[in-house]
Amino acid sequence: MDIFNLKKHEKVCGCGKTKGKYIDDIKAEYSGNAMPIGFANSSFSAAYHEQRKKDKLNFAKSDFTKGTEFTAFFIPASAKSINKVTSITSGLNAGNIQ
Ligand SMILES: [Zn+2]
Repeated sequence: MDIFNLKKHEKVCGCGKTKGKYIDDIKAEYSGNAMPIGFANSSFSAAYHEQRKKDKLNFAKSDFTKGTEFTAFFIPASAKSINKVTSITSGLNAGNIQ
């Protein structure tokens, strides 16, 4: 099982069976047997900054503590922002790739 983010250019999982990309600034599409996930932005951002601060304290490996948690969730199939498709939109809009 792979987890990867989506970009405006098509990305593919390690086995090649799942693909996905953004088709505009909000909407994305994917193909394959995937379960899209999302991060709660405020939770992710707060955890990111908290962990950055903790890591600057330079704990020894022997002082290992759990990392800062944040909220992630599965995006339901009914979500309007991401659609499962049988094949990813072709590269006709390649000029939009960033
Ligand atoms: Zn795969």
